[in-house]
Amino acid sequence: MSRVYNFSAGPAALPQEVLQQARDEILDWKKSGMSVMEMSHRGKEFTSIASEAESGLRELMGIPDNYKVMFLQGGASSQFSAIPMNLLRGKAGADYINTGTWSKKAISEAKRYCEVNIAASTEDSNFTTTPAQTDLNLDPDAAYVHYTPNETIQGVEFPYIPETGDVPLIADMSSTILSRPIDVSKFGMIYAGAQKNIGPAGLTVVILREDLIGEVLPGTPTMLNYATMSEAGSMYNTPPTYAWYLAGLVFKLLKRKGGLQAMAEINERKAAKLYAAIDGSEFYSNPIVPNSRSWMNVPFILANSELDSTFLSEAQEVGLVTLKGHRSVGGMRASIYNAMPEQGVETLINFMADFEKRNS
Ligand code: PMP
Repeated sequence: MSRVYNFSAGPAALPQEVLQQARDEILDWKKSGMSVMEMSHRGKEFTSIASEAESGLRELMGIPDNYKVMFLQGGASSQFSAIPMNLLRGKAGADYINTGTWSKKAISEAKRYCEVNIAASTEDSNFTTTPAQTDLNLDPDAAYVHYTPNETIQGVEFPYIPETGDVPLIADMSSTILSRPIDVSKFGMIYAGAQKNIGPAGLTVVILREDLIGEVLPGTPTMLNYATMSEAGSMYNTPPTYAWYLAGLVFKLLKRKGGLQAMAEINERKAAKLYAAIDGSEFYSNPIVPNSRSWMNVPFILANSELDSTFLSEAQEVGLVTLKGHRSVGGMRASIYNAMPEQGVETLINFMADFEKRNS
């Protein structure tokens, strides 16, 4: 068996150790005689898997006790609607920071439910930077401030956590969660689709400060109501049990590897090496201002876009796959989440240097 280095933005590479454990347990989970896929979500086996996953995530991220952790479905995209439905709490509007494709999607969904104040937008720069704290035009009456710490498509990442005073800060961390330690207490809510740095697609993690739960817009679907979902322990209906189990295995693995501080050191190093290789060449370039470059998603373009398809096919031949940039921005993108080994990044850098030599 040979595994490739998969630079997909999501669903993304999973840690090999986790896949191996899942393989070993697939027919018979801990002498239960069943696969996790076959278990009742209300049985004692799955309940223990679910609660261990939650405590694993709480420990990894240092989630305070006054936060609920939910394991939901519908992707991060469902949260774009659930957030205004649950968190306006009688207010007319919310602040949104626009730094790229995913912020824009959150904004257009929120506009269906409330007044949206664009507290800052970097669209004029073609989303190649992040706004400074002093550029944020925050409304003290806003129900919340929403932002996207890491824009998966543009590869632009906030170098700081915005200060929003008493207004709850809400972060779409889909492509940066678990990449480094963060102070959860600075946030009203953190949410993430699992398929990048947590586990397989089909699971969405929501971390929500308890005091924000309760008042919903009339007509809010039960499945999007945080009060219902958190009271039911994310089991109002059948949850995505297998994805939840795999996420739990990922949390345990990260703990064994030294937790998020250890991940941060590796991730920072991986990203620094790749950006240095890009910046050090005349052949490759990345348009993002250096202090806002993503650790997780590294877009780059070739000096001659006619070579794009050759680059991709030769990369594929040496086991470097899914490097094609998002269709909206073109070029290349290397997503280098926790599960991408440092060796994978080095192999990519060596391939890039060799390709440059042969083609310039
Ligand atoms: N936000 C960000 C930052 C993303 O990268 C993505 C997925 N690529 C989404 C939201 C949408 O997630 P989902 O597909 O889980 O709805």
